[in-house]
Amino acid sequence: MIRTVLGDIAASDLGATNYHEHLFQVSPLLPGDELSDEAASAAEAALLRDSGFEAMVDATPVGLGRNPAALARISATHALSIVATTGTHREAHYPGDHPLRALKADALAELFSDDIERGMPASDAFLPAQVRAEIALTPAGEPVRAGLIKAGIGYWAISSFERETLDAVAIAHRHTARPVMVHLEFCTAAHEVLDILAAQGVSAERVVLAHADRVLDAGLHLSLVERGAWLGYDGAARSKQFSDEQLLELTERVVRGGGAGRILLGGDVARATRYIAYGGMPGLAYLGNRYVPRLRECIGEPAVEQLTVANPALFLDAR
Ligand SMILES: [Zn+2]
Repeated sequence: MIRTVLGDIAASDLGATNYHEHLFQVSPLLPGDELSDEAASAAEAALLRDSGFEAMVDATPVGLGRNPAALARISATHALSIVATTGTHREAHYPGDHPLRALKADALAELFSDDIERGMPASDAFLPAQVRAEIALTPAGEPVRAGLIKAGIGYWAISSFERETLDAVAIAHRHTARPVMVHLEFCTAAHEVLDILAAQGVSAERVVLAHADRVLDAGLHLSLVERGAWLGYDGAARSKQFSDEQLLELTERVVRGGGAGRILLGGDVARATRYIAYGGMPGLAYLGNRYVPRLRECIGEPAVEQLTVANPALFLDAR
């Protein structure tokens, strides 16, 4: 079963899924790009839906402006399945005095497991696990639960906070069987993170490496696929880093090399200034409207279907 904000659904009911976006996110690292307006985020979600996706992961972890009740309302209104996230981002997103930083792995794991089992707090203002806030509710009055656990690390660096969160993610994964997402900077330390998680009982087959495509290295990617890990491809429309054409070429090479069963597709647009409904562009619909048609020409419809339907259903299912 896949845990969405409106409840558990069968993996076969998920449909075409964008594995990584943010409907709500507030981070000191992204000033002026706050995603916190429910009406605007709902309008952007509708654009995503109209571009061909039936489901998405809201990849915003603890403490960065999550709004679970609003996710549930948007999901119900726009017939878009949404999987919410617990866990943490890389350390740079949390100011030095952030209370999350004081917690050790066991306490963090309890927080993450609570989000998955009991429900997520209505407000993302941080509270210690012992005094959890009121739980966010769906329009039907059920608790809104998270369905994925996230951690993040730096560029070839794992700080002590990040190491603590990786340990906590492993504990929460062993407890809940939910899938794991790790934010990487330019796909550095991918094997090292998988080693740390594997040593604690998290199989690479349950881990997606977010932003793997920030390095256009098919050989590295296939070495990660070989050990069972998922590649999060979410770099379309990032012209300052590379062109969509380069990303398409990378995808084609990895698919030809046998990696089609381990790629997840997302946009990770993440900034208000890139959302149509917040007055920016290109918006969450870019992936479905502009990128996927070109991908279809490169790798064919069956492979696109695998990347957008079969793969997310397999990855997000708790087994
Ligand atoms: Zn993201």
